[in-house]
Amino acid sequence: MNHKYLFVVGGVMSGVGKGTSSAALGLTLKSKGYKVTAIKIDPYVNVDAGTMNPVEHGEVFVTIDGDETDQDIGTYERYLDVDITKVNYMTTGRVYQSVIERERNLEYGGKCVEVVPDVPEEVIRRIKTAAEMAQAEITLIEVGGTVGEYQNILFLEAARMMRAESPDDVRFALVSYLPVPPSIGEMKTKPTQYAVRTLNSAGIQPDFVLGRSTLPMDKPRKEKIARFCSVPWDHIISAPDASSIYNIPRMFEDQDFAENVLKSFGLTVKQKDLAEWTAFTDRIAAAQQSVKIGVVGKYFSTGDFTLSDAYISVLEAIKHACAEVGVKPEIAWLNSEEYEKDASKLNELKDFDGVLIPGGFGSRGIEGKIKVIEYARKNKIPYLGLCYGMQCAVIEFARNELGLLGANTTEIDSATKNPVIHLLPGQEQNLCDSSYGGTLRLGSYPCKLTEGSTSREVYGSETISERHRHRYEFNNDYRKQLEDAGLVIAGVNPEKDLVEIVEVKDHPFFVGVQFHPEFQSRPLSPHPLFVGFVRAASS
Ligand code: GLN
Repeated sequence: MNHKYLFVVGGVMSGVGKGTSSAALGLTLKSKGYKVTAIKIDPYVNVDAGTMNPVEHGEVFVTIDGDETDQDIGTYERYLDVDITKVNYMTTGRVYQSVIERERNLEYGGKCVEVVPDVPEEVIRRIKTAAEMAQAEITLIEVGGTVGEYQNILFLEAARMMRAESPDDVRFALVSYLPVPPSIGEMKTKPTQYAVRTLNSAGIQPDFVLGRSTLPMDKPRKEKIARFCSVPWDHIISAPDASSIYNIPRMFEDQDFAENVLKSFGLTVKQKDLAEWTAFTDRIAAAQQSVKIGVVGKYFSTGDFTLSDAYISVLEAIKHACAEVGVKPEIAWLNSEEYEKDASKLNELKDFDGVLIPGGFGSRGIEGKIKVIEYARKNKIPYLGLCYGMQCAVIEFARNELGLLGANTTEIDSATKNPVIHLLPGQEQNLCDSSYGGTLRLGSYPCKLTEGSTSREVYGSETISERHRHRYEFNNDYRKQLEDAGLVIAGVNPEKDLVEIVEVKDHPFFVGVQFHPEFQSRPLSPHPLFVGFVRAASS
């Protein structure tokens, strides 16, 4: 099989949507009849994203095979509608770890192991393995960071080596940013020109330039970039801010981006099929009635700015469900710590149609979350709790319905008299050894649903498979008491008898799940739990 590779690199600044642009391009290539996969390279020394603070790095996305990756892998899964596995994610740490392991095993046959070419060669080996495993005709490789940064240079060197080795099979797209400074009132191309020159100094000439900006790129700007950067005019793509990220594929189609990428590889369009996707974006545009969802978390603030990147899959899953139900999401990011400082703030929750508490770690903000859950439960506001959001729901129920004073998770209070949430078997040792990286319960596990439960009804099947990322779990010693007090055990892992879903009765929708359904929601197959939640919230 002849694999084609398109490297996507960033210029000028980070955070301009390289991942989303690559994913949207991937979808349009797929719609033309090609098998596409995507690789994400993170230049960090961290072996995976699991040890990074979500405020700094955004969401930790979990793959079916339990890798803790960059959130862009989630973006690729959503656009390409495929499950992406470990082999498609690499970091500097991971690459070096393999090189060093190989050296320790004498696999370099006694030779001196060098940063160049041995490190880029390991990168190339990983890229080729991922393409092979996915049987991909086209592999998109997103190199994290921005050109000119010291830390991604070895990845660019790998890309350059691949192009030198097979010039017909490797292409480059630079996703750059074109500012429109208000004081000037004009779109400026100079930073992009510098970015191309910086890329040139790594031995790489971009074949495509994608210009992200607040506004569309006009003809004079395209001409400038074409002329000064030696990129064909029709290979310069305008990518202004979109009203919905799901409109980007259409925007690319209007400029024949995918078709020109295929042409540059010497490939032809095999089919054209964006109908289902277009129907999805039409549903988003047609929605009139809005539904107000409060997402209660804590990974929002960075200095004076509020970011919601830590919960990106949750946000997208809400959007998918809203498109399905035919409503417009109005999402508010609520900081759980605020409810600890001032309990009267809880009253603002009555303006919400639904409340969602996503995953989390540690003590900051947890009491606020528990208060929010009590309010949602008692005031019959639809509630969806994900992972920590489920554990907090169990704590709330134990304290307020069962009267178990001080009920807690041992993550917060290791000496609690009522550890309704406690460590998973085998996790004690990891904590003793300070072995935190990659040691949570990760990846997909089956769960059997209870007949008659809300979850059983919304899923419409008896056994499901969902992705996990946690170290603590429901304590089965309290199961009987909690059930007797009215807590519904709606889903259990059949092998280990772990409680995976709890619900309460006589409530429009109150579901807490130990797993992360948000990772499996796709635009064209919205997640049943989110659909059930949004439906309850909008009725
Ligand atoms: N902190 C909890 C645990 O480790 C929940 C994790 C999460 O929400 N992802 O079990």
